[in-house]
Amino acid sequence: MKLNFCSLSSGSSGNCYYLGNEFHGILIDAGISATSIRKFLKNMDISMQTIMGVLITHNHTDHIKGLEVLIRKNSLPAFTSNKIWKSILSPRNKISTDCIREIPLMKKFHLAGFDIEAFPVCHDAPETIGFHICAGDKKITIATDLGHICQTAAPYIRAANLLVIESNYDEQMLANGSYPHFLKARIKSDHGHLGNHQTSAFLADNISDNLNIICLAHLSKNNNTPELVLQSLQKTFSERGIALNRQQQISVLNRNMPTDMIRLTE
Ligand SMILES: [Zn+2]
Ligand SMILES: [Zn+2]
Repeated sequence: MKLNFCSLSSGSSGNCYYLGNEFHGILIDAGISATSIRKFLKNMDISMQTIMGVLITHNHTDHIKGLEVLIRKNSLPAFTSNKIWKSILSPRNKISTDCIREIPLMKKFHLAGFDIEAFPVCHDAPETIGFHICAGDKKITIATDLGHICQTAAPYIRAANLLVIESNYDEQMLANGSYPHFLKARIKSDHGHLGNHQTSAFLADNISDNLNIICLAHLSKNNNTPELVLQSLQKTFSERGIALNRQQQISVLNRNMPTDMIRLTE
């Protein structure tokens, strides 16, 4: 079975991820324009016809900016919880009821050959979810906006073979930066975002041989750099004496352009 993943865009300016098998694909979030999504997929020889739906994590613009146009133009269903739909739908947007699919939390549903489970995370939206996606014996977890890793979310994150996890800000850059105090407090709070040290510490505490690919995601434009993300992780791992095995790889997802396709199976 073929299983491919790539990030089309990841960060506070827009998020969209692709997961596909040999027949179909799904998108997770649509926080960049529908035109960019179509263009990026085309560059990777992925036809929009093979996309079977879009999973939505929450109502922040960096996750739904392109949603309305994307699902309207391509007659795609979009999947999220009842509470998140209520926070997205408004008289201003033209999302057709035909495209709306409500999903339960922590209960599997099936789409495009994938078994998918949504789990709640702590973030400052009316509701925010991560996704745990199983394809054969491979497990993918996506958790991009969370102030801390709560007990509900942790098992889904630990179970992943491929993990997309937020490493949003460098603690020092945020503290010394120009954001107003209330915004710094919001970002650092339990309902804000994960900082580099938080993510590194969680990974150091929980890394196992099953976790083959770690994608560090949703970097802040103003308060982080890919180098600082990697430095934080390498420092924490070396302090704890953690060495990666030869199958394990770590990458920092680009903020504004697609990554190379990550192949989980050939
Ligand atoms: Zn976000
Ligand atoms: Zn958010």
